[in-house]
Amino acid sequence: MDGSVTGEEFRTRVRDWLASAPRPEGLHDYGGTPQLADVPAGRQWHRTLFEAGYACLHWPAEHGGRDASVLEQAIFAEEAARAGVPRQLNIVGPDLAGPVLMRYGTEAQQRRHLPPILRGEHLWCQLFSEPEAGSDLASLRTRARPDGDHWLVDGQKVWTSAAGAADYGLLLARTGEDRHRGITAFVVDMTLPGITVRPLRQLDGESKFNEVFFDDVRLSGDSVLGEVGQGWRVATATLGQERLSLGAQAVGMFEALREVADAARERGLLDPVLEDTITALWTRIWLLRATWLRAVGTDTELGSSAFSVLKLVSSEVYRDLGDLATSALGTDTLAAGHPLLRRMLVGRAQTILGGTSEIQRNILAERVLGLPR
Ligand SMILES: Cc1cc2nc3c(=O)[nH]c(=O)nc-3n(C[C@H](O)[C@H](O)[C@H](O)COP(=O)(O)OP(=O)(O)OC[C@H]3O[C@@H](n4cnc5c(N)ncnc54)[C@H](O)[C@@H]3O)c2cc1C
Repeated sequence: MDGSVTGEEFRTRVRDWLASAPRPEGLHDYGGTPQLADVPAGRQWHRTLFEAGYACLHWPAEHGGRDASVLEQAIFAEEAARAGVPRQLNIVGPDLAGPVLMRYGTEAQQRRHLPPILRGEHLWCQLFSEPEAGSDLASLRTRARPDGDHWLVDGQKVWTSAAGAADYGLLLARTGEDRHRGITAFVVDMTLPGITVRPLRQLDGESKFNEVFFDDVRLSGDSVLGEVGQGWRVATATLGQERLSLGAQAVGMFEALREVADAARERGLLDPVLEDTITALWTRIWLLRATWLRAVGTDTELGSSAFSVLKLVSSEVYRDLGDLATSALGTDTLAAGHPLLRRMLVGRAQTILGGTSEIQRNILAERVLGLPR
C-alpha cells in the first residue's frame, strides 16, 4: 500500500469512503459468515470493495491485493465495524483458502481460484470438522480413494459454515492410514453430484452452518491441494490463519462495548460497578488489539502456535461482552429482541469455532510454554 500514507490518513480515507459507498439493500454486519439470505448483498458489497481497492487488503499485490500493513488491516476492520458493514463476503475465501492456495496451490489452481475470491464471485467453505472429529481433527474419517486419475470421496462433514451458498470448499480427507500423513487437502466444487448439504438450525434462529454428505463424489486429480499426504500441514496453516483473522475481528468489539454502555446509560443502569466491569473489558480489548498487531507484524509462520493466544483472548472477550450485556440489561430486555441478544448467543459459539478455548490452552501450554502434556 502507499507507504506515504499515515495510519490516520488511511483511516480518514476509509471512513469517508465507507460513508459514501453505495450499500446493497439489506446489507448489515453479519460477521465472518453470511446466512443464505445475506449472500446476494454480501457478494455485491464485496464487489464494491474490490472495485474501490479494499478487497483482500492483506493479499500481496501480485495476486491483486494491496499488501496492506497490519495497521491498515486493523484500521479497515475497525472502520468497517463502526460503519456496520462486513469487511468482506466471508472469512474462508479471502482469509483462509486464499493464503493457503498462495502457499500450497499450483500456478493453475492460483490462476483459477484467486481472482474470483478477490472479486467476491466465489464463496468458499471449510470442510474440516466431522461428527467424530472436531478438536481431534486428525481422527477424521471422510475418505478419498484413487479411481484412475480421479478421486472418489465418501463421508460426512459437520458445522460447515455457509456450505449452502458455497461455490468451493477446502476439504480434508483420509487417503492413508497414518494419522497425520494419511490426510490430503482437496479443492472441491460444491456443485458436484454426490454432495448433499443439510442446514442446521442454531440457538439464535439462524442457519449458518450445515452437515455436508459426500457420496462417491468424483474429484479430478488436480483437485489435490499441496501433495497427497500433506493435508495436515495445509490444515495447520489454515487454522493458524483462521486464528489470526479472528484476532482481526476483535477490533470491532470496541463498538459493541459502546453499544452496551449506551443501552445501560439509556436505562439508568450505568452504576459504578458496571462502569468498572466495562473498563476492565475495554482494557482487555486494547490488550487484544496490541497483541494482534504484534503477532501479525512479526513475519510469523502461518501455522504458528502463538496465534492461539489471539483466538483464546478474542473469543473469551467476545463471550464476556455478551455476558456483560445480559447482566447489565437483564435477560428480559434481551429476550424481548434487543439487538445485543444475538451478540450474547454468538459469544458462546466464538469459544468453540476454529478450535475451542480448551484446545487453545493445550496448544499454548504444550507448544509455546513447553509444559508436559
Ligand atoms: C459457529 C461455528 C462455526 C463453525 N464453522 C466450521 C466450519 O466452517 N468448518 C468446519 O470444519 N468446522 C466448523 N466448526 C466446528 C468447530 O471447528 C468445532 O466445533 C470445534 O473444533 C470443536 O469440535 P467439536 O464440536 O466436535 O467438539 P469436541 O471436540 O467434541 O469437544 C467437546 C468438548 O470437549 C473439550 N475437549 C476436547 N478435546 C479436549 C482436550 N484434548 N483437552 C481439553 N478439552 C478437550 C472441548 O474443548 C469441548 O469443550 C464451527 C463451529 C462453530 C461453533
